[in-house]
Amino acid sequence: MPDWLALYYREPVELTHGEGRHVWDAEGRRYLDFFGGVLTTMTAHALPEVTKAVAGQAERILHTSTLYLDRHMVELAERIAALSGIPDARVFFTTSGTEANDAALLLATSHRRSNQILAMRNSYHGRSFSAIGVTGNASWSPTSLSPLQTLYVHGGVRSRGPYAHLSDGEFIVACVADLEDVLGQTHGGVAALIAEPVQGVGGFTAPPDGLYAAFREVLDRHGILWISDEVQTGWGRTGDHFWGWQAHAASGPPDLLTFAKGIGNGMSIGGVVARADVMNCLDANSISTFGGSPVTMAAGLANLTYLLEHDLQGNARRVGGLLIERLRAIAAGLPVVREVRGRGLMIGVELVGPDGAPSPDAASLALEHAREQGLLVGKGGREGNVLRLAPPMTLTVAEAEEGASMLEAALRRVQDATGGEARP
Ligand code: PMP
Repeated sequence: MPDWLALYYREPVELTHGEGRHVWDAEGRRYLDFFGGVLTTMTAHALPEVTKAVAGQAERILHTSTLYLDRHMVELAERIAALSGIPDARVFFTTSGTEANDAALLLATSHRRSNQILAMRNSYHGRSFSAIGVTGNASWSPTSLSPLQTLYVHGGVRSRGPYAHLSDGEFIVACVADLEDVLGQTHGGVAALIAEPVQGVGGFTAPPDGLYAAFREVLDRHGILWISDEVQTGWGRTGDHFWGWQAHAASGPPDLLTFAKGIGNGMSIGGVVARADVMNCLDANSISTFGGSPVTMAAGLANLTYLLEHDLQGNARRVGGLLIERLRAIAAGLPVVREVRGRGLMIGVELVGPDGAPSPDAASLALEHAREQGLLVGKGGREGNVLRLAPPMTLTVAEAEEGASMLEAALRRVQDATGGEARP
């Protein structure tokens, strides 16, 4: 495997099985999973409904390609189109988030006949050539030789950067002015803005509600399409909303929406939803060999049905709200924690050194200590100094409290190791 393949932990964890919110490693150690494989485990590990759907489908058919229809693909497309909020929506299935964004960028650039794209600073959209070209985070963007001409704008990061000191309202005004300024440097004809409503890899950081509504006015004036990358924020994880874009609801739905990760609960499903006129702008055939495969589609359908029938969005709101509160109380006594932020079950814990500067070392140490406690968490942020918590959405209150206690113990050890006194 390549040297640049990112692995967590000094001694990587080898997972053997999972159940509910827990996974086990090859030594038989059990972990409470607060990362769910970068948010892929949306409902629960080995959810019987999904397992049954996968096994039943695999027994019947393993043939794939979008050249043939499968009932599950059509039904899932119809359900996602209806849920997306996009009028007259069409859905194209892929196998990953990268491929979904690639498809969205192909559609937007083809529709607008332009390769100019607006993207957010500190963003992450995948690892294909075009997705890297709209990723505003150098540590995940190994080449600048993109086929796209990308213009990066402010707004994705609320509590750092030149506008951090402003009120929410002033922040939005400043970001809109920045967007107008950037557009003023072009010769017109920008194809689209691509943005994560809450930045995932960027460290679970979000703009104030309403930013994209304010952006939308500017975009509409220029005929620029809005692509909402919902790969991490979709399916109710943020608690208050089913999609991240809904936190900016005055703007109405985006023109294109991309999804992946959680919908498959571990199976590889991605996709792009777009208005029919945008989706149908391509004038050559296309096909996805594995996108829309009968097995993954059956899994997605079972998973989505479970999510909706058990109101996991409501659970994310309630349990996530309690978890954020508890973590903020813990953080109040630990100067190593600069900020606890997020919504629903998408929570970032930003760590700093005694000088207040971002501390990737503190985050790496916290990850190791949390593992020793029996808790898996993720990492992110431009400097790699943010712990990312995104447990399966069936998380119970007792598990949230247990995880918070384990994280507290890990953070106390980090506090002791990095210096500075814990506050009483
Ligand atoms: N968009 C976002 C917001 C993501 O977080 C990711 C993955 N971390 C991707 C796109 C790419 O998805 P994948 O890894 O499935 O290609």
